[in-house]
Amino acid sequence: MKTKRILSLLLTLIMAFALCVPALAVDADPEIRNVIIMIGDGMGENHLKLAEQYGHTLFMNTEYDLRGQSMTSSISHITTDSAAGGTALACGMRVINQTVGVLGYDPFGLVRLPMSITEVAAEKGMRTGVVTTDKTTGATPADFTVHVLYRKQYEKIGQAQIETNFDLIWGTKESTLAREDVEAHGWTYVSNRDEMLALEPGSRSYGQFSGQLWRPNNSLTLAEMSTKAIELLNTDNDKGFFLMIEGAHIDKNSHTSDGLKMDYDEKRESVVDAVVGFDNAIRDVVEFAREDGHTVVLVTADHETGWIFADIHGDMRFHSDEHTAHNVPVFVYGNKTLFKANHAVANYTIPIRLARLLGWGKDEFPRARDGSLIKRLPEDASPGDVDGDGDVTAADARLALRAAVGLEEFEPGSAEFLSADMDGDGVITAADARQILRIAVDAEA
Ligand SMILES: [Zn+2]
Repeated sequence: MKTKRILSLLLTLIMAFALCVPALAVDADPEIRNVIIMIGDGMGENHLKLAEQYGHTLFMNTEYDLRGQSMTSSISHITTDSAAGGTALACGMRVINQTVGVLGYDPFGLVRLPMSITEVAAEKGMRTGVVTTDKTTGATPADFTVHVLYRKQYEKIGQAQIETNFDLIWGTKESTLAREDVEAHGWTYVSNRDEMLALEPGSRSYGQFSGQLWRPNNSLTLAEMSTKAIELLNTDNDKGFFLMIEGAHIDKNSHTSDGLKMDYDEKRESVVDAVVGFDNAIRDVVEFAREDGHTVVLVTADHETGWIFADIHGDMRFHSDEHTAHNVPVFVYGNKTLFKANHAVANYTIPIRLARLLGWGKDEFPRARDGSLIKRLPEDASPGDVDGDGDVTAADARLALRAAVGLEEFEPGSAEFLSADMDGDGVITAADARQILRIAVDAEA
C-alpha cells in the first residue's frame, strides 16, 4: 500500500515536471570564453517588424543560431521598468521596479547584495565592459555595474561606477561626473571618437561621448563603440571577457508622446533608426564572434515599449507610450543549447544560463557579494526543507508543488514559503518543486 502511494506520488510529480517545467540545465562549453549580452531596451517582436516594414532586413532576425523569447515581469509589477528588467539580466534575480541590483527583500542592501554577472566575471579575472547609447548612469548600464535603491540616484551611480574595477564604461555625457573625478580613480577619460579610437588594450576607460550614438549615421556609432570595446577587452585568451552593449533609444524613442497621434512618422522613423543602429552593432559583434569561435552573443530586451501591433492595413503602429509586459525576442549567436528553440524563458534565468555555459557553478552565480547563496531565509528556514523536519525529501517537493498549483497556501515571508521558493523569485512554481525533488533524489543517491 505504502509503496503504491509513493509510486503514484512519484508518477504525479514526474508528469507534473515533464509537463510544466522548462529545463535550466545548460552544459558548460569549454570552447566558450567570452560572453556578450546585447540589450535593445524596449525592443519587442513588433519593433523588428516595424523596421522590416521600413525596408530593413535585420541581421539579428536572419542570422541567429537560436531564437526564443524572454518573459520580462519583475517581482513587483507584471510590467517591468528598465532598472528591474536589467537587474534580472545582470544579477539573475527578479527585483522591485526602479531598483538597481538590490534584492527585493533587502532593497537598501543592508544585509547582502546580489553580484552582477559583470562583477563575477571581473572577480574571475575576465575583462569587463559596459557600452550604451544612454548616459553611463542610466538604468541598464547601472544594473551591470553598481547597486542602488533607486535608479535616479545618478550621482551615486556615477560615483560608484568610478570606484569599480571594470575595464570600460561608455555612454553619453552625464553632467554629474567630472573628468578630474574620473581620472583621479585611475580611468582614462574619453569624450570623443578620436580619443576612443586611440585607447590601447590594457587601459581602463570611462567614456562620455556627445552626439546621438544610437543613430546609424552619427559621427560615432554603437557599432564602432562595440568593435573598439571588443578590441580592448579581447586581450587574454585564457580568461576571456564579458561585455554588455545596450541600444537604449529603442525604448527612449518609443516613449515619445507623439505615438498615439495619427501623424507620427517621425517617431516611427526614430525608432527604426534606433533598431537599425543596434542591429548594425549586432552584425559587427557577431562577425567578431564567428571569427573568434570562443564567443557567445545573446541579444534580447528588458521589456517592450509602445505596444506596437498592426492596424487593419497591416501597418505597425504604436498603441501606448509606455512599457508593456509582452514577451521580447531572444537571439543567440554561437550556441544552440542555451534554451529550447522557440521557447520563452524567464528573464532572470538568462544570465544564469550564460554563467553555466561558462562553467560557473551554482555556488558562483547567482550569489551575494558576501559569498552566500542568495536565499531569503530566516533562521528557521532552510532551502527545500518545506515541512521543517530537517531533511529535504520528496514530501517537501510535493508540498512545494501543491503550493505552486494552489492546493497549499504559505504566508509570504514565512519559513515554509521561503524554504519552498528555491530560486528566490518571490513565487512558488513547479520549478521550485523540481529543484527540491532534485535535492531529495541527490540526498538519497
Ligand atoms: Zn522605458
